Amino acid sequence: MKCPVCGHPDMVKKVLDETLAYGGQSLTLHAMHGEFCSHCGEGVWDDESYRRYTEAQAGLLRSVKGDVGEDIRRIRKKLNLTQAELASVFGVGKMAFSRYERGESRPPAPLVKLLKLIDRHPDLLGEMRNV
Ligand SMILES: [Zn+2]
Repeated sequence: MKCPVCGHPDMVKKVLDETLAYGGQSLTLHAMHGEFCSHCGEGVWDDESYRRYTEAQAGLLRSVKGDVGEDIRRIRKKLNLTQAELASVFGVGKMAFSRYERGESRPPAPLVKLLKLIDRHPDLLGEMRNV
């Protein structure tokens, strides 16, 4: 394998610990497998390690920023609606709430506020359908 950055042909397989840090929190992933360039130090994780890396990164982000997706899911379950039903109440795309709940995209702030309002006053849901 050639180095994707400098093109050096000598990538060395290594197993090492990688520490992620974000917003004052950190976590260490142990026994990460990858190939590293002996010339510039660029590294490429193998598939499994890359998956662990991106999951850990997303997890860290959630724990620092608070989990909006989890909030949305809890409120939706309480309202006893499917993701598609809630989407139609809000007039957004069918897949929107699926993406918000899985943390794939960040919901617009007004939507979150509105949902929290409905959480406190569930009868507003009926009104929402009529506006
Ligand atoms: Zn390199």
